[in-house]
Amino acid sequence: MNKREFIKYSSYLIGGTYMGGNTALTIPSFAEMTGGKKQKGKLVLRYKPYTLQLKHTFTLATSSRTTTPVVLTEIEYDGIRGFGEASMPPYLGESHESVMKFLSLLNLSQFSDPFLLVDILDYVDKVMPGNYAAKASVDIALHDLIGKLVKEPFYRLFGLNPDKAPLTSFTIGLDSPEVIKQKVAEAEPYKILKVKLGRDNDREMVEVIRSITDKPLCVDVNQGWKDRGMALEMAVWLKEKGIMFLEQPMPKEMKDDIAWLTERSPLPVIGDEAIQNAKDIMDNKDVYSGINIKLMKCGGINAAMKMINVARALGMKVMIGCMTETSCAVTAAAQLAPLVDWCDLDGNLLIANDPFDGLKIVVGRVTLPERPGIGVKYMYY
Ligand code: MG
Repeated sequence: MNKREFIKYSSYLIGGTYMGGNTALTIPSFAEMTGGKKQKGKLVLRYKPYTLQLKHTFTLATSSRTTTPVVLTEIEYDGIRGFGEASMPPYLGESHESVMKFLSLLNLSQFSDPFLLVDILDYVDKVMPGNYAAKASVDIALHDLIGKLVKEPFYRLFGLNPDKAPLTSFTIGLDSPEVIKQKVAEAEPYKILKVKLGRDNDREMVEVIRSITDKPLCVDVNQGWKDRGMALEMAVWLKEKGIMFLEQPMPKEMKDDIAWLTERSPLPVIGDEAIQNAKDIMDNKDVYSGINIKLMKCGGINAAMKMINVARALGMKVMIGCMTETSCAVTAAAQLAPLVDWCDLDGNLLIANDPFDGLKIVVGRVTLPERPGIGVKYMYY
């Protein structure tokens, strides 16, 4: 072993077990987590920063990156541990520092009953405004803990039938035609593809995909189009190409233009960046035909459930999506999959160093684990 190889090998050993292969990156050790000490009958919160390595550079209309910062959390109660996660893509404004700071302000040891989920999450919500990814990391860990305490998967506690989870899409970022072709081939197990548009070669991207597959396709523009006339032309053209829906076609501030488009578009128009929480749905009920819920935007499973109820009451379509996240947060979101029209739960597949095992995609469909809580297993114990 030469010096360079030794340094590479040593770096794999930091914080965990050497797993070998190209995907073995730094393993987060829960033993190193900061936070409270064990106290019988009390909730103890622990957390640790972690950096996700993306398999491909992820390019959207407005940005490009190769890593995503996350914070892994754990809430322990009488020796049972629930896992959570905050994922912080840069455009949401949270970071390792902000999430760690928020979590350091929480005193969960004041609670002795983890089943008082509403009280606990109300307290967390009021500690500081915003910080939704940080709040989601507590919400997810608490749901996981409760499910583990009663030894049932959380979707069962919600009364949901896991067989009703819809097909999930696999996202293909903006890229060269050669890489797009390669990614379409990698997405073979998926029955639906989602393509990121919003640059000047949108039609070419769709044509490249259509030249190799006729799978149902959805389109996410990430606010990339600025002209409603052009957006409508594209919507009509995309409909002819077998596209299912159009996500966040224009900047969220262009509400009147998006409402104009939604009224005329042959495709459903879904709000993503514009829709963080239940109030945003009310404010945009005449702007979009549907919403994209993400736990990191709204603050967790509890808030996502409220959003689903509001959207359904307004007759809107619902999809549940994710950020680039480990299987922990993605599997937490998947608990709600039986309630939605479309799933876009592929964030864990875009990363090379996922420390959790969770949901599986079987013949294009989200398959929820039967393990209790949110159903994830930490891989490195
Ligand atoms: Mg989106």
